[in-house]
Amino acid sequence: MSARIAQAISALRQALPHAHLVTPDAKEEYQALSNSYLSGFESDLSPACIFLPKFKEEVAAFVRTIGPFADDVQFAIRAAGRQPLPGCANVQDGITVDLRSMTGIDLQDGQVQVAAGGLSFYSSREGFICDNVINFEVVVASGEILNANAKENSDLWVALRGGGNNLGIVTRFDFRTFKQGPMYAGMVWYFKQSFPDQMAALVKELTSSNPSVETHLMLSIAYAQVFGNGDDVICLNQLYYTQPVEDPPVLAPFVHVQPQRSEMNSMKIQTLVEAATEQSDAGQSKIRCLYMNVCVKADVDTLTTGGDIWCEELEPVKDASGLMCSYTLQPYPVSQLQRTSANGGNVLGLDPSNGPVINVLLLSYWADKKDDARVISFMQKALKRIERNADDRGQLVPFIYWNYAFSDQDALRSYGEENVQKLQAASKKYDPDGVFQTACPGGFKLF
Ligand SMILES: Cc1cc2nc3c(=O)[nH]c(=O)nc-3n(C[C@H](O)[C@H](O)[C@H](O)COP(=O)(O)OP(=O)(O)OC[C@H]3O[C@@H](n4cnc5c(N)ncnc54)[C@H](O)[C@@H]3O)c2cc1C
Repeated sequence: MSARIAQAISALRQALPHAHLVTPDAKEEYQALSNSYLSGFESDLSPACIFLPKFKEEVAAFVRTIGPFADDVQFAIRAAGRQPLPGCANVQDGITVDLRSMTGIDLQDGQVQVAAGGLSFYSSREGFICDNVINFEVVVASGEILNANAKENSDLWVALRGGGNNLGIVTRFDFRTFKQGPMYAGMVWYFKQSFPDQMAALVKELTSSNPSVETHLMLSIAYAQVFGNGDDVICLNQLYYTQPVEDPPVLAPFVHVQPQRSEMNSMKIQTLVEAATEQSDAGQSKIRCLYMNVCVKADVDTLTTGGDIWCEELEPVKDASGLMCSYTLQPYPVSQLQRTSANGGNVLGLDPSNGPVINVLLLSYWADKKDDARVISFMQKALKRIERNADDRGQLVPFIYWNYAFSDQDALRSYGEENVQKLQAASKKYDPDGVFQTACPGGFKLF
């Protein structure tokens, strides 16, 4: 441990005598915390200290204490530790601020308040989750605790809708709420020969004159030995219709695709919690896991050729131990993009006039570090070719989704110059010394 980090930890102990600080000598607790990231690429990192604040005031005291050390001591901010981007929420030889103790949900006046945590997911009807945050409570570089909403610090409010950990540590999110009862949702597994027709059905629905706002359609080609599909890929539709309607016509092309692995068809009326549980990673941890992504327009040939490219590049790594991977399409329908300005704006730079957009996500999970280089190379080669194929067809959308980006994909720059400038202006205003730029290296940085 360097002298500076030892001094920073000691300063933290002085500022917060009752703080929960875990150093490597607390072997079991330290290991349990380190091992609890989804991705082994995060667990590979060993912070000098893990700080677990319980209250926003402790977060504020941390930021005030770390400021003077910002040139030599690094820190990371961690919520659930589910984003696979290496080093985004953990830091070698620095201090990791683990927000797991800052939990709690409170429902008031049609708003829900949630302590800390990362943000993800989106819906055709309600828009990106970040667009539904009506207030961020955030500790900025001075250690001040600010509220950022439409009326107060509105530049910070908009910047936090896509700005990651560049502007401060969020200690509470207040969300707009909407009623959501049971829905028709689940998974349908089928074979690769049907994929082009499924692409055509997806594009037809997204580009129709009146697409349903009740759907979220995710289509994948996937590979894993555990599927019992020999050495072949298999296809998966993850389908959501946000009304309690059994087998709605809009989902019919995707639900009734033939032939299918009907014994694995899980479509049914279920609650949001049940549907989310089916999709979740079931608390897995410390697995080799990476995501990469690119965005394209809704074009059948681009999507189908993209799938073929992915299958071709996959061939030489199929024997990587425990490999489970997919080429997954997640649409942003026009209705979803329209919610951004209706809800006050964000910095993602996705204009509804360019929609519908389809996010092409390449994800891989595998078991053994020795396969890291091969799997990363497969994903990078496939991504590059998919990107080039889309570009050659005039179908590339220059947006990279932060939550699925790999270290060499600058998601921030993909928001466009104007939005980067907005974010830089917010950073200069709320973090004039650039503490979150230099001392908090995880994720994508503004300068
Ligand atoms: C099975 C599975 C499904 C997924 N599906 C989706 C999906 O549908 N849509 C989607 O968008 N993503 C999805 N993801 C990706 C992931 O869940 C999201 O990136 C999620 O937002 C990460 O949240 P987290 O709390 O785990 O963040 P962490 O991994 O803990 O942190 C992620 C980043 O956010 C920063 N951060 C976290 N909390 C704060 C805070 N309070 N203040 C400031 N910065 C902070 C961290 O420093 C880090 O850079 C999925 C992941 C898995 C494993």
